[in-house]
Amino acid sequence: MPTPHEPDTTNTDTPVLVIGAGPVGLTLSLLLSQRGIDHLVVEKHPGLSQHPKARGVSSSSMETFRRLGMERQIREASLPPEHVAFFRGATLSDPHAVRTQPSEPAELGTPSPGVICSQDVLETLLLAEARARHPRGEAGIRFGTRLTALASHPEGPRARLQRSDGGEETVVARTVVGCDGADSTVRHLAGLGLEGERGLDHFRSVRFDAPLGEHVRGRESASYFLTGPDGGGFLAIDNDHDWILQIRLDGPEGPEPASPEARIEDDARLAERIRRDAGVPDLPVRVQRTMTWRMDAALAEAFSGDQIALAGDAAHQIPPTGGHGMNLGIADAEALAWRLPGDRARLMSYAAERKRVARAVLDLSLDNARRAYALDGNLLTRVELTGDTVLRDAEQAVTLRAGARLPHAWLADGTTSTLDLFGPGWALLAETGDAPGAAALRAAHPEAEVWPISGAMRGFGMTPSGAVLVRPDGVVAEVRAG
Ligand SMILES: Cc1cc2nc3c(=O)[nH]c(=O)nc-3n(C[C@H](O)[C@H](O)[C@H](O)COP(=O)(O)OP(=O)(O)OC[C@H]3O[C@@H](n4cnc5c(N)ncnc54)[C@H](O)[C@@H]3O)c2cc1C
Repeated sequence: MPTPHEPDTTNTDTPVLVIGAGPVGLTLSLLLSQRGIDHLVVEKHPGLSQHPKARGVSSSSMETFRRLGMERQIREASLPPEHVAFFRGATLSDPHAVRTQPSEPAELGTPSPGVICSQDVLETLLLAEARARHPRGEAGIRFGTRLTALASHPEGPRARLQRSDGGEETVVARTVVGCDGADSTVRHLAGLGLEGERGLDHFRSVRFDAPLGEHVRGRESASYFLTGPDGGGFLAIDNDHDWILQIRLDGPEGPEPASPEARIEDDARLAERIRRDAGVPDLPVRVQRTMTWRMDAALAEAFSGDQIALAGDAAHQIPPTGGHGMNLGIADAEALAWRLPGDRARLMSYAAERKRVARAVLDLSLDNARRAYALDGNLLTRVELTGDTVLRDAEQAVTLRAGARLPHAWLADGTTSTLDLFGPGWALLAETGDAPGAAALRAAHPEAEVWPISGAMRGFGMTPSGAVLVRPDGVVAEVRAG
């Protein structure tokens, strides 16, 4: 064992080294464990982030969690569906406020409608399952461990890790995956630049405790947008005591107050602002923590190198106007997991595919931001984050074709979706196992599990003699008419 502050030179071998235990790194860990792929996750902080950023978990992510057997527990930890509404008013108590609800889940073409689940809650659930399912158990996910250097080597990249006890070690991997957020160390060390804009806007997010539930009773919402001159708004964590106030800043304000005295003054100012924006002058408020954040719209110049891949915010920083950043990252994890531990060609195909999707989602979110959509205004809009096209249900029909996400359809039992049939392996869907299309595809892809789906996909133009080959991440690889 190394003594504190004494560097050691332990070498650990792992097929996949995942840097970062945010929502994307943890989801990737779960997907790798599901495939029986050994890996190591390292996170520089001593624990998970306590300040939630994302709350909108889209149907695309919920479909991933459904395949991981985690949908129910995440849904139970989310706001009830009747709270998924948007409130616009001068204050939280404004009697003239307008409340709108997004379209019904049944219209969304998914077995797993999106939810509002605070990122810290989601990460806690993901971490518990990732630890329980990891081939190395708890040792597979290490906190207080920071990536500091990366060297390429013919036999696989060498990653230098620094532990919070002062020790150091080198990990030899086949692939290093940067799930290490917007300021990704992996991206920097791989020499990959960013394309796009940073600092489009600046906000302060204030998490606080206050009995606001009684003031919103009967009109509970997920987001409460303030229509006054200062903008901003309240975000519900539980629609009772646990809340966030989002404040727009004029520019990149200085760091959070450091001294205890400055913190007390700052908290008092924030509490006053919360009372004003709530329209409740005598509201008891306890500020828990604050975080300033910057709105960026940028993509890594490449999402992979010869021995590394980037996923989540490390690869793309999406304005949160639409709530797509984390969801896009979770879809990256699905697109990457089945290719790991990847060779150069697999990493390059991942990178090309995902960068196209990320660019489309970035354009969509930037457009929302420029049209001054209120923050999170179209949260839970169904946007395809898988496959070669970013589709919005309202704009384009979902089709069955190679390169696109497999459409959702219920099988005859009414509880199994076509989206339950792939992952962790390949799937071959046909009306019957001996359909001519299935025979042809099975000869070329004997590894695919065959699923007779009767007439479930007729609505998408599938013929009785046809068959569909689906990748482990739900992208249609091939469609045969028969
Ligand atoms: C206000 C706001 C609201 C948002 N709302 C939504 C929403 O509703 N829906 C949505 O989809 N997205 C939303 N987002 C975006 C979402 O929060 C991010 O896209 C998401 O956190 C990205 O996850 P990640 O795992 O890629 O990165 P992160 O969450 O940033 O995690 C990266 C991890 O890597 C670790 N790390 C960094 N460097 C190292 C290193 N050298 N060694 C070891 N570990 C390292 C970090 O400590 C961190 O824990 C929102 C963002 C903001 C700011």
